[in-house]
Amino acid sequence: MLTGKTALVTGSTSGIGLGIAKALAKQGANIVLNGFGDVEGPKAEVAKLGVKVGYHGADMSKPAEIEDMMKYAAGQFGRVDILVNNAGIQHVAKVEDFPPERWDAVIAINLSSAFHASRLALPAMKAANWGRIINIASVHGLVASSDKVAYVAAKHGIVGMTKVVALETATTGVTCNAICPGWVLTPLVQKQVDAKAAANGWTNEEATKRLLGEKEPSMQFTTPEELGELAVFLCSPAANNVRGVAWNMDGGWAAQ
Ligand code: NAD
Repeated sequence: MLTGKTALVTGSTSGIGLGIAKALAKQGANIVLNGFGDVEGPKAEVAKLGVKVGYHGADMSKPAEIEDMMKYAAGQFGRVDILVNNAGIQHVAKVEDFPPERWDAVIAINLSSAFHASRLALPAMKAANWGRIINIASVHGLVASSDKVAYVAAKHGIVGMTKVVALETATTGVTCNAICPGWVLTPLVQKQVDAKAAANGWTNEEATKRLLGEKEPSMQFTTPEELGELAVFLCSPAANNVRGVAWNMDGGWAAQ
């Protein structure tokens, strides 16, 4: 379905980004990976699916590096047809204890990076009259939790940005939508489970159950594979007129 198209997924060396990259690769899309940590492992996992794989190590908090990454992708693959703005970090603290530099980092990586990548991807998408921008927001783009001021602000912001891009592209073949996962057991969330376990003297299993129990009625994690399938749907012709939505996949979290 996506053969001949190129998808750039930010923050795709791990977790949800890697899951989405693999789901798009299974549909035939060439993939540009981005992110920190082990690169060769994720590259090999995607290459196994029979598509071309590139990588750019841009730090998504740095606009100049994002610009360089977009130039690299266009140079290697011709054009970015699908942009998945996924890179993200978390920091947990009360507002009055929240380090200002952590606020800046969360806003830069979780929100501003998506603006920069989108503004740079849009001209070629509009010229081709086809494109998909998928912003990985969060259920925290729809509702709040305490101790996550920067994350909740960034995720509400990206849901707003999604709507603006969707309006500005509404008469074209370019669509922009957001996906809002609940808990997904990635390194980002395992850190929060570990912190809960350490603070309360709980086992990993007990801390996991309590984390889910506080927010997610299904008591189940959403998986990167399930999120990948939603991204595939948003890239399909059936989703041609899905524009500006914030689609939660959250085990009933936001229904409460
Ligand atoms: P993760 O920690 O597994 O992956 C994050 C990815 O982003 C990694 O590839 C990492 O290297 C990359 N990254 C981090 N900082 C970067 C930077 N400055 N520049 C470039 N890459 C950077 O996390 P995840 O859980 O897969 O999260 C992915 C996205 O999904 C985030 O935007 C997160 O907010 C969102 N999300 C996660 C959950 C969850 O429960 N895990 C829920 C809702 C939304």
